[in-house]
Amino acid sequence: MTGIRSYNRRVLVTGGAGFLGSHLCERLIARGDEVVCVDNYFTGSRSNIAQLMGHPNFEVIRHDVTFPLYVEVDQIYNLACPASPVHYQHDPVQTTKTSVHGAINMLGLAKRLNARILQASTSEVYGDPSVHPQPEEYWGNVNPIGPRSCYDEGKRCAETLFFDYHRQHSLPIKVMRIFNTYGPRMHPNDGRVVSNFIMQALKGEPITVYGEGSQTRSFCYVDDLIEGMIRLMDSPAEVTGPINIGNPGEFTMLELAELVVALTGSRSVIEHRPLPQDDPKQRRPDITKAKALLDWEPTIPLRDGLERTVHYFRSRFFG
Ligand code: NAD
Ligand code: UDP
Ligand code: UDP
Repeated sequence: MTGIRSYNRRVLVTGGAGFLGSHLCERLIARGDEVVCVDNYFTGSRSNIAQLMGHPNFEVIRHDVTFPLYVEVDQIYNLACPASPVHYQHDPVQTTKTSVHGAINMLGLAKRLNARILQASTSEVYGDPSVHPQPEEYWGNVNPIGPRSCYDEGKRCAETLFFDYHRQHSLPIKVMRIFNTYGPRMHPNDGRVVSNFIMQALKGEPITVYGEGSQTRSFCYVDDLIEGMIRLMDSPAEVTGPINIGNPGEFTMLELAELVVALTGSRSVIEHRPLPQDDPKQRRPDITKAKALLDWEPTIPLRDGLERTVHYFRSRFFG
């Protein structure tokens, strides 16, 4: 962009006061970008971005992305959307609106500005996958009418919109399929497995393993994830994605529970609870494309990342 101001890249981050968004804002500010953070504080909070408040290159707008937004930026990271099942099922209609209307508004904004736009999509587009690990070519196995559908189908529709704006309006797009990510600033009560297990272990309460605990997930530490996100945004224009970003290390929920108990030195016992409906049995990213196109792969093993996360939860909630 040209103008009377000296040139800094101006970046819009929707959902910037959330878990991933706040880490992204921090990294962008650290490299000298001007950041406009947009959030309606549905699941995010001011405390996530408190350290950035007052920084001359950081600006916050309280706004719901289901309504139009007029700002002037060079790049848009579209992260606004509740991400944990407890949160996105709280108001499922609003979840679909956020994904779909939010995507339309941010794509309309990007189109007017000819700005690059990145969509935070999800491994949930693969549903309960019958192909394992999941490559980007896999079309998924998603229930269109179940309790997770507001999130899964909303995100799938957002991907459709991104590719149609790309084909129809030549918009420069980037679609990132994020696999389970954890780290400091995860919401302590959002019901996600890593925060649940750590909070339960630190309180000495039973660790709630749903079902047998044989279902698997692959957990990526937040710093690795944000590095992949920025590399994708800054990659050559022809790299549109969709591209998987996640850690291929795969663990059962029982293994995760045991690791958290060991790392916290907790005396918590494991207690089994019913498995939620449509809970995917396994999930692991195929990251061949991210390695080849972005020269990216995760560097932080689960044990190290969990130690850092336990440290955060301990000092923030038990200090
Ligand atoms: P989060 O809930 O911490 O952050 C989402 C942010 O979006 C919050 O700050 C929330 O207040 C904001 N928001 C929600 N609805 C909004 C609206 N209508 N208008 C404006 N702001 C709104 O979740 P997160 O883990 O940081 O996830 C960020 C993005 O990454 C989401 O789009 C999510 O779907 C995606 N993602 C995350 C994971 C993960 O493991 N964390 C995995 C896959 C995809
Ligand atoms: N939009 C926005 N900010 C802008 C430009 C557009 O929020 O700077 C929204 C606007 O509400 C519109 C949507 O993006 O409904 C889609 O825009 P597009 O130009 O693709 O379609 P149209 O305006 O024709 O509906
Ligand atoms: N889970 C669990 N105990 C909990 C919370 C979650 O066993 O207290 C399981 C859940 O059933 C799922 C996995 O952990 O199989 C990951 O759940 P999460 O909600 O973190 O993410 P998602 O299901 O969206 O991958």
